[in-house]
Amino acid sequence: MEQQAIEQHVVRFWDEQILPALIEFIRIPNESPGFDAEWEAHGHMQRAVELVTAWIERQAVPGLTLQVFKDGTRTPLILAEVPGTLPEVVLMYGHIDKQPPMVGWREDLGPWKPVLEGDKLYGRGGADDGYAVFAAIATVKALKALGQPHATLRILIECSEESGSADLPHYLQAYGDRIGEPSLVVCLDSGCGDYERLWSTTSLRGLVGCTLTVELLREGIHSGLGGGIVPNPLQVLRLLLDRLEDPATGRLKPAALHVEVPAQRIAQARKAAQVLGGSVVGSFPLLEGARPLADDTTQLLLNGTWEPALAAIAQEGWPELGKGGNVLLPGLSLRLSVRIPPTLEPAAASAALREVLEADPPFGARVSASAGGEPGWNAPPLADWLEAATDAASREFYGKEACSFGIGGSIPFMHMIGQRFPAAQFLITGVLGPNANAHGPNEFLHVPYAKRLTCCLVRVLAAHHARFAR
Ligand SMILES: [Zn+2]
Repeated sequence: MEQQAIEQHVVRFWDEQILPALIEFIRIPNESPGFDAEWEAHGHMQRAVELVTAWIERQAVPGLTLQVFKDGTRTPLILAEVPGTLPEVVLMYGHIDKQPPMVGWREDLGPWKPVLEGDKLYGRGGADDGYAVFAAIATVKALKALGQPHATLRILIECSEESGSADLPHYLQAYGDRIGEPSLVVCLDSGCGDYERLWSTTSLRGLVGCTLTVELLREGIHSGLGGGIVPNPLQVLRLLLDRLEDPATGRLKPAALHVEVPAQRIAQARKAAQVLGGSVVGSFPLLEGARPLADDTTQLLLNGTWEPALAAIAQEGWPELGKGGNVLLPGLSLRLSVRIPPTLEPAAASAALREVLEADPPFGARVSASAGGEPGWNAPPLADWLEAATDAASREFYGKEACSFGIGGSIPFMHMIGQRFPAAQFLITGVLGPNANAHGPNEFLHVPYAKRLTCCLVRVLAAHHARFAR
């Protein structure tokens, strides 16, 4: 296949077929079930599934079969299959459920309002991860159009990823045999360090959620009468959080929350730091004068991918600003979100959190910490053929060498699939680059990046075929 032929085909397909569909997709508020308990009654997920499946059928890919599973009250699962000329299987993965809208969108933008502006398509769920199913089909279409043989392709699209892939284990259990034994898994739900090369993800952190509750009084009391005599719950919370996190550095203190970082991952972080330099910090919307947690870029990349990190994401107990009386509150609760290293068991991390937070409560307060979470993922060693194929594709379509790094977020699918197919090779990639802001306001898809990524996928699937056709 000629480079130019791939580019022409892919770019035209994106412009004529994908962008109009993706624009319609962004309009659908199909929030993941974790954010919309009434998702089934609202019908948005069903509409999103119908939009995607009708679009796939319109593409009339030769030999493609399409199935939508919908078991009981679970979210649906889409599985498309395109038979190939080899018994080998490539599994491609994405999801269509979305994060909630969030506040803070630019005035003329909004979560369910698609806006194409220059290179960017704004709106919720375009980059995370609506583009994936369209890019996967675009890849197949290009292979077919250019007469390139390929292995059997199975495209799996789920609808509960943003809720920790709650429904995926059931479907893998019930219908896993239809996936077969993939020798290559392509996950399209990850990130890129910049928009200038093909990025692949070598690790993902796990995630533990913890609700920390502190109770001190039977009821709130006049702060003028009680202040200085009885402790306030924030004091207790501060003491407890200080056990967990060094407030000056952000480092989590319990040794049980850390792992030894593999030497190969340190080397990758060094290389990524060289490529990215100041853009690692620059890609975050820090206010002028606000500083990151460290100066060294390699250290920051490792902190963000292999070290645990704490965020307090919600509270209960405080009135809203402007509604607070001068009261010593009886108690407070915080929801803590703790990212954990890729190879750390979430059960061990949860136990460590509980132990640290519940031991010896300050002032005899009642303290409870309930925690649970999901595992991260560390890629198996990369096969030579895949390393060569990704690098060649990156040079061909981006003009720069490929690069790999860890991602600080979680993709539950990767752990499930990694355990199920330990012999598979993985290309974990995606379009969540600088400022793409998945989960936050002003999420956008970098359209030229996604087009080039699709071109790279065409090459990688051709290389996969060549590897196994021998
Ligand atoms: Zn996603």
